Amino acid sequence: MKILVTGGAGYIGSHMNFKLREAGHDICVLDNLSNSDGSAAKSFKFYRCDINNLQYLDAIFAMEKFDAVLHFAGLIDVAESIHKPALYYKNNVAGTLNILDCMVKYNVSNFLFSSTAAVYGTPETIPIKETHPTQPINPYGDSKLMIENALRNYQQTHGINYTCLRYFNAAGADIVNHLGECHEPETHLIPLVLQVASGRRNSIAIFGDDYDTADGTCIRDYIHVSDLCNAHLLAINHLIESRSCGHFNLGNGQGFSVHEVIETAKEVCGKEITVEHTARRTGDPAVLVADASKAKKILAWQPCRYQLHDIISDAWQWEQVLAK
Ligand code: NAD
Repeated sequence: MKILVTGGAGYIGSHMNFKLREAGHDICVLDNLSNSDGSAAKSFKFYRCDINNLQYLDAIFAMEKFDAVLHFAGLIDVAESIHKPALYYKNNVAGTLNILDCMVKYNVSNFLFSSTAAVYGTPETIPIKETHPTQPINPYGDSKLMIENALRNYQQTHGINYTCLRYFNAAGADIVNHLGECHEPETHLIPLVLQVASGRRNSIAIFGDDYDTADGTCIRDYIHVSDLCNAHLLAINHLIESRSCGHFNLGNGQGFSVHEVIETAKEVCGKEITVEHTARRTGDPAVLVADASKAKKILAWQPCRYQLHDIISDAWQWEQVLAK
């Protein structure tokens, strides 16, 4: 298949390009390089394009005749979204509608959407099932939920088949293909902790230690980026075969507190990690843990590197590459 990977220069998208190539697909990457430098996508056909540039997008769709779109492009920082909501609606909502409109115009009917656990807001029950109410508590989550809702309408009216993959916290790296997480500024816990271990950062800030959890810090479900990408391969095949649209949680079903992540990182790296306790951030639920049994049952997905120790070990190898 010929597949457009939007945001394919970014962390998860760049891992996905290699998985898709290994599976025999023909890939075009599209990215505006607002949160990546393009180096991870250099062996793929690449369009430097903003998804808000409808004219350029239209020209790309007219030239390329895609069979499917995997849509990773978007802004990802919850805290930033609270200060700049319009930026998030323009990028993540308006930009995505441009992609969908091009798909309608050029008869591309298969769409995989990078959604998020942030659509659930503060969970009423843990682990979270796909049927849990969606009540985002920050503009980032709102922007993703808006697209989930729009997709239902595009399916009914225009026949776009879609799958929304609601990721929990992606982490880890693919050292063989020289890939890993590399944001500037970095906002994700595991790379930040490892930057302290490697000496690139002085300390790690813990945002709130008075949550209703065993050690007072937030609990998250970490999923290895390679397992995440395997789920996308299964999901795109399932979508094309079944044309059945839906939502899948992608996580390991096990939660780790910020303290537990730091303790595991100390073990993996054999280094001290200085922490700094600061106030809670707005928009952070105390606990987010997935029930991913639907993806396991329907997509036959099985995570391979689900131990936190393994996830952090892979991320640590990558951090050592960056720190050189
Ligand atoms: P990332 O920032 O590394 O990758 C996103 C890419 O999209 C970047 O390369 C950026 O330059 C590009 N981009 C942003 N706005 C764009 C625009 N207007 N036009 C074109 N390109 C644009 O982020 P990631 O961690 O790889 O996340 C990929 C997707 O997965 C995002 O949509 C994110 O919301 C979603 N997601 C990620 C996580 C996670 O833990 N990383 C969790 C849940 C959901």
